Amino acid sequence: MHYLKDEERSFVRDLKVADILREYKMGELKGITKNGGVAFFCGDGDIDVRNYHEKTISRRPHGQSLFGGVLIYSRFYRGYKGSFAADSIENALLGLNAKETKTAFLYPHYPCGMATYFEHTIEEVFLMAADTHLRFISEFGFTPDKTHSFFHVKRLNKGAREEQNTYIFDVKKYLALIGAPIITLGQAYILKLAA
Ligand SMILES: [Zn+2]
Repeated sequence: MHYLKDEERSFVRDLKVADILREYKMGELKGITKNGGVAFFCGDGDIDVRNYHEKTISRRPHGQSLFGGVLIYSRFYRGYKGSFAADSIENALLGLNAKETKTAFLYPHYPCGMATYFEHTIEEVFLMAADTHLRFISEFGFTPDKTHSFFHVKRLNKGAREEQNTYIFDVKKYLALIGAPIITLGQAYILKLAA
């Protein structure tokens, strides 16, 4: 079982201070989603985020649960495979159509078994989560107001008890903080890939 290391905890703390990770206020997204939206989870079993989603967003989530979760859609992911990402988003879009909803909830998390497998750091996981968020808007046809990114972390608290927290992740603020090169494209913006 993996938990946040000390330096990762302080990284998360810094993002909270910068208001990039924000506590979800119960009910703040209530009513904004038609038919529950579609949630994108990681299938590695390192999190109980589905339970969180059921409590806060929708009691009957429509979900896509793949190993790597939202990371599979980022070109920075070491396990990235374009054809798999294309087929997976096509599958999700079919589900969205079938359930008559246009809302996506993205749930990256850390520690993530798949990220660890590919030796990604927590900073890289945040970057990949941001990249995926942008691709959903710039390439996959989602609108900014219907694309919601969260971030789930698991840590041991002072009493050595497991604590799981899910935050709203402000992607735009994060990219500004790290000075990521962004191309603006109408309402959307894309992360420029390093040459
Ligand atoms: Zn994972």
